[in-house]
Amino acid sequence: MENAVKLTPASEEGRQLLQHIEQEAGTSVNLCYQCGKCSAGCPAAFAMDYPPRQIIRLLQLDLFDDALDAGSIWICASCETCTARCPRGVDIASLMDALRREALRQGRINDKKVAAFNKAFLNGVKSFGRTYEAGLTIQYNLSTGQLFKDAALGLPMMKRGKVGIMPHKIEGREAIKKIFARSEQLGGE
Ligand code: SF4
Ligand code: SF4
Repeated sequence: MENAVKLTPASEEGRQLLQHIEQEAGTSVNLCYQCGKCSAGCPAAFAMDYPPRQIIRLLQLDLFDDALDAGSIWICASCETCTARCPRGVDIASLMDALRREALRQGRINDKKVAAFNKAFLNGVKSFGRTYEAGLTIQYNLSTGQLFKDAALGLPMMKRGKVGIMPHKIEGREAIKKIFARSEQLGGE
């Protein structure tokens, strides 16, 4: 990989911004060779406008506005699966965090989709004690007006058993319900 092409932003402003984001994240976007392992393992990729691999690509191609306005950076759950899977050692989770901080600094927040995702995610946890991917996808897509967004991907995944059609319920759901009830008492939704 010594001979890999190094992509550099065309403008001085872009170079400075990339340097700042990379310093904050402690990683380099030029290490990425776009294999897609990060996106394949990301549990929230289905709800993202740009999955992790594409966020890195936006940064490589000097498309900072698209990266900073992406709903993906707010949907990212900081689970670090992407970072653990990356064969090039790119700390994508940390990059997502740095992008969130930069977006906040610049006053950019895509909060409508983020709120819809959070609500759909929490509804699943409240009902089943864990995430229910199919229900989460349908509820999120319905509430954001993009019902068929993941149909081409989701149906084959269901057929192969990668995504469950029916939810799995965990033991101890009563304890989870109490947590939600307490949160509502304290003013949460
Ligand atoms: S896993 Fe690493 S190298 Fe592969 S696309 Fe993601 S960031 Fe790039
Ligand atoms: S840290 Fe964020 S981008 Fe990475 S796998 Fe987890 S949710 Fe996806």
